[in-house]
Amino acid sequence: MNVKGFIEDLKGRFPHEPEYLQAVEEVVTSIAEVYDSCPTFERYNLLERLCIPDRIYTFRVSWVDDQGKVRNNMGYRIQHNNAIGPYKGGIRFHSSVNLSILKFLAFEQTFKNSLTTLAMGGAKGGSDFSPRGKSDMEVMRFCQAFITELYRHIGPDTDVPAGDIGVGAREVGYMYGWYKKMTREFTGTFTGKGLDFGGSLMRPEATGYGNVYFLLNMLATRGIDIAGKRVAISGSGNVALYTAQKLISLGAKVVSFSDSDGSIIIPEGISAEQFDELFDLKTLYRGRVSEFAAKHPDICTYHAHQRPWTLVGCDIAMPSATQNELNGEEAKVLVANGCIAVSEGANMPSTPEAIKVFQDARILYAPGKAANAGGVSVSGLEMAQNSQRLNWTAEEVDNKLKAIMADIHKQCVEHGTQPDGYINYVKGANTAAFLKVARAMMMQGIV
Ligand code: NDP
Repeated sequence: MNVKGFIEDLKGRFPHEPEYLQAVEEVVTSIAEVYDSCPTFERYNLLERLCIPDRIYTFRVSWVDDQGKVRNNMGYRIQHNNAIGPYKGGIRFHSSVNLSILKFLAFEQTFKNSLTTLAMGGAKGGSDFSPRGKSDMEVMRFCQAFITELYRHIGPDTDVPAGDIGVGAREVGYMYGWYKKMTREFTGTFTGKGLDFGGSLMRPEATGYGNVYFLLNMLATRGIDIAGKRVAISGSGNVALYTAQKLISLGAKVVSFSDSDGSIIIPEGISAEQFDELFDLKTLYRGRVSEFAAKHPDICTYHAHQRPWTLVGCDIAMPSATQNELNGEEAKVLVANGCIAVSEGANMPSTPEAIKVFQDARILYAPGKAANAGGVSVSGLEMAQNSQRLNWTAEEVDNKLKAIMADIHKQCVEHGTQPDGYINYVKGANTAAFLKVARAMMMQGIV
């Protein structure tokens, strides 16, 4: 495969979509060898068909704010690929949302879902609407307007949305409620639902816990124990908080959190009690990490407009906020400070330059599509429970999550182990995911 030629062609066709091109380039570069080993792939023009989404819906979302003003946002749903199951992927509400970001996320989701061992295709959606600073009623009106347009394109066997940045239990509840109103059906069309109406135990925890389970699998390849390790985390949302919760329970020291305004550094590690306070501040009161720092000047410092990576030494980094939040220079500092592992909770948080630094230094590095796949995996388990009209116990779901994360790790090892023994998790994850989707696409013909 002429990787360069392929990427140049895509750049020409989608010149204003840098995140999408970045995600495609990473995957295409790492699967070039396996793609070239089977001429049938090229005969089916699989690569192009796999990189370009099946379809994209773009729509205007008009809603009325608390002052009676009519507001307009953009809404999107990218149905990327359904070769191995119904389209499946989260919805993001954030002011930065645009087509390029959602296309990169839908593309990544297709590979991630393939790794989960469950039957789910890839999708992503969202809006440039930001719930931050909006009242509950404003968020509800926006969600209803969003679903009024989207409801006709989704369904339990067609496309199953979930949460992502800015979309948690509140937003999923409002969207599902309006979806039900429009369709007059109670089905498992959304995941991340409340426990009283079809949600799964352990879904809120799944992405963060799953990332820690993946990390444990990676550390085990080098006989390293998590207890006592210093872990830097970015973000302070769903993924970051549950990652920290699991790490603390395992005896690790969590030394940082962040949000889009800045970072807090806790040099000695946050205690379980202090973490519970931060958890409540973020989840019950939608507070900011700066508020926690202001209340606890004795244990932590606040750094406005800064990311945690260069502010504190750590053994392990778990970026859990957003894409491209860890660059090459920051990666160099992490490695110089003795970081031995990076496991991504967010999607594509490390830039290509950062990934190269990690891999050149031969430290453990897990890309988000493998390490954060626990969230969508438990979403898949939520769909299974909804179809059965049954609820599984937390222990049952957690055990299945652990098994899935171990299986994803195994796939990475199988396809990513280099002649010198180093496990290239990027190559492993991309190759394993590609092969499954590619086989399914070939058997289904040109559709
Ligand atoms: P949340 O909205 O719950 O939290 C996001 C966190 O990241 C917040 O602390 C937010 O700060 C911060 N953040 C968002 N955008 C930026 C930015 N541009 N710069 C700096 N900080 C930012 O989202 P999640 O925790 O659900 O998602 C975090 C990441 O994990 C995303 O990349 C998402 O795609 C990925 N992911 C999530 C899954 C899930 O199950 N939720 C599953 C798999 C991946 P602020 O409050 O200031 O906006």
